[in-house]
Amino acid sequence: MIDDTAGDGDDTAPSDDPVDRLLASARDESIEDDVHVTGVMMQYYEVCTRELWFDSRDIEIDRDNAAVARGTRVDDEAYSEKRRHVSIDGTIAIDVLDDGRVMEVKPSSALVDPAKLQLLYYLWYLKHVTGVDRDGVLAHPRERRREDVELTPENEEWVEDAIRGVVDVIERDSPPAPTEKPFCESCAYYDFCWSC
Ligand code: SF4
Repeated sequence: MIDDTAGDGDDTAPSDDPVDRLLASARDESIEDDVHVTGVMMQYYEVCTRELWFDSRDIEIDRDNAAVARGTRVDDEAYSEKRRHVSIDGTIAIDVLDDGRVMEVKPSSALVDPAKLQLLYYLWYLKHVTGVDRDGVLAHPRERRREDVELTPENEEWVEDAIRGVVDVIERDSPPAPTEKPFCESCAYYDFCWSC
């Protein structure tokens, strides 16, 4: 886990670590990083690295239907009166509740870890780029479920490992091999993976 805080810097040579590169470019507009890791990328990384690679190439096929079926689509309507949309650096778009917590709304809890990783990435980004500590809440309004999410040291490590994993995947010249998952049949890229 990194122990740097927002605004700190040093004069050492640039690091190759994707986490360091992300933070350096987020804190200093003059520093370019080819990869802009988004919350949705973090979600796809946890769902399927092959799907992440396709998505990083802007290969989109019937995305809405697949996302609805798997509960990964963002729900724009729920809690709309209680949350404000906030965009940071044009990379991170979050919803903030009146009490300051960051909310991520999903229609289904079918894939809870990807949604949790996405939300944790927002909390991590807020902490390390803007210096703001916030807790989060993951909401599934159709199931009347809410879960508090906290950026513990273990969760920070999960986020940073995932950032490195995302960059490793999307910098590859070809996609990772398909591995069968319970939700492949509802995936937009099914024909790319399993049609002979
Ligand atoms: S069909 Fe399965 S293996 Fe292929 S991209 Fe989708 S989730 Fe991944």
